[in-house]
Amino acid sequence: MVSGQEVTKPHFAFLPSPGLGHLIPLLEFAKHLVIHHNVHVSFLVINTEASAVQHQLLDPSTLPSDLRVINLPPADVSSRVNDSMKVITRLTYICQESFKHLRATLIELNLPKALIIDIFATDAFFICKELGIPVYSFFTSPTKLLALSFYLPKLDKEVECEYVDLPHPIQVPGCKPMRTDDLLDQLLNRKDEEYRYYLQHVSRLTMAAGIFVNTWDDLELKSNWLNAIKNDPFYKILPAPPVYPVGPLIKREEVVTESDEFILSWLDKQVPNSVLLVALGSGGTLTAEQLTELAIGLEMSKQKFILVVRKPNDLIAHGTFFNVGKDRDDPVSYLPEGFMKRTSGQGLVVPSWAPQVKILGHEATGGFLSHCGWNSSLESLVHGVPMIVWPLYAEQRMNATLLTEEVAIGVELVAVSAVAGGRKVVKREEIARVVRFVMEGEEGKVMRSKARELKQSAAKALKSGGSSYDLVSSIVESWK
Ligand code: UDP
Repeated sequence: MVSGQEVTKPHFAFLPSPGLGHLIPLLEFAKHLVIHHNVHVSFLVINTEASAVQHQLLDPSTLPSDLRVINLPPADVSSRVNDSMKVITRLTYICQESFKHLRATLIELNLPKALIIDIFATDAFFICKELGIPVYSFFTSPTKLLALSFYLPKLDKEVECEYVDLPHPIQVPGCKPMRTDDLLDQLLNRKDEEYRYYLQHVSRLTMAAGIFVNTWDDLELKSNWLNAIKNDPFYKILPAPPVYPVGPLIKREEVVTESDEFILSWLDKQVPNSVLLVALGSGGTLTAEQLTELAIGLEMSKQKFILVVRKPNDLIAHGTFFNVGKDRDDPVSYLPEGFMKRTSGQGLVVPSWAPQVKILGHEATGGFLSHCGWNSSLESLVHGVPMIVWPLYAEQRMNATLLTEEVAIGVELVAVSAVAGGRKVVKREEIARVVRFVMEGEEGKVMRSKARELKQSAAKALKSGGSSYDLVSSIVESWK
């Protein structure tokens, strides 16, 4: 471990909860601070249940020298955690066990000037309060969810029934009404532990010295969420901590393996804007029936594609959240018979994990069918790629609505109820129709041109003189 005494630059620490959707943007923010703002960062990592991809992303040889990865001592969670547990409950338990050593680690690091956590690492507030270290939160979802999260403790007191049974949308202060259909999974059953833990974490948001949000001023102009948090009396009375739009911070470099090289050289041979990337984040998995419909739908669309594929999971939609990268099985065993052969000239099938940012940044990529995790959504916007939205879990339905209705760079797929009354399914014909609509249709071109405008404004926000860059500079100066 690095002793704080060795460090001469201002020293900050980061602490994400498990899961790549949180680790990736916090790591990018840490890199941004080190590269552009001359600080030293200790990036504290929970390795308990870490995925193979996490180890790859944190390889010290790929990180700037002023960014040190510090592994928290491994915690034994075997008596508290099991595979059937829901995500936030499991994350909360892992954090509780892992943070038993956090106090000692921060002291050994000679007390960094501030700690930056994500929304589920909130037990750190109490440890840092005792040590006198200010804690900032990095919110890895859109400001839309932040506004709802600030409001949730009040909503919880005022509403007795399930939110989904309310006869009207939810009126988040200062914002446009939010459809209950779009609520995140954790808010669908208030009797479930998942809800209780989500409520607990967001109730602590007011303890933060400030909240960084992965967005930028121009994107926020398309909606009223950030403006509401900054100006509506509800948030002033709370009081909500200052909220800083510092993004879009996305993965910039990716480790490219030999099989990735193959994907990129295949893309080099395709015409511009002709390939659809299909990828469902770090955790997304489909049922066997849905995977078959997706594969055949892609084939029927006759469009070029890269399909990142995982073994189907009929029970949960986030089947690889804790172990992505370990599941590189042979897709022939679960894709429709003959599919790989029939589509060999049309598309590529990539098991488990692909270099998503490199693919989105390639000129041959013209569309992205995504589960709408916020990192994936930002990566698409930063590269000017229109989206087909396929929300699966967490807050993704909310993100999908934002992308289709407010930002207008995405189109949704219509699912129908399964014949036997089970989970809804998007049928092959619908997949083929929407894929062609985005890749070939006039509306696809309009969405692409809107996405390109956002690409330029995102690049501007992150350059010296841009809104996000300058905001971060002023915060770092105030810290120094
Ligand atoms: N990702 C990737 N390759 C894949 C799938 C995902 O590099 O095959 C990355 C993606 O670029 C993004 C992250 O994993 O940075 C997923 O984060 P997101 O917030 O989109 O979704 P989550 O995994 O949290 O559901």
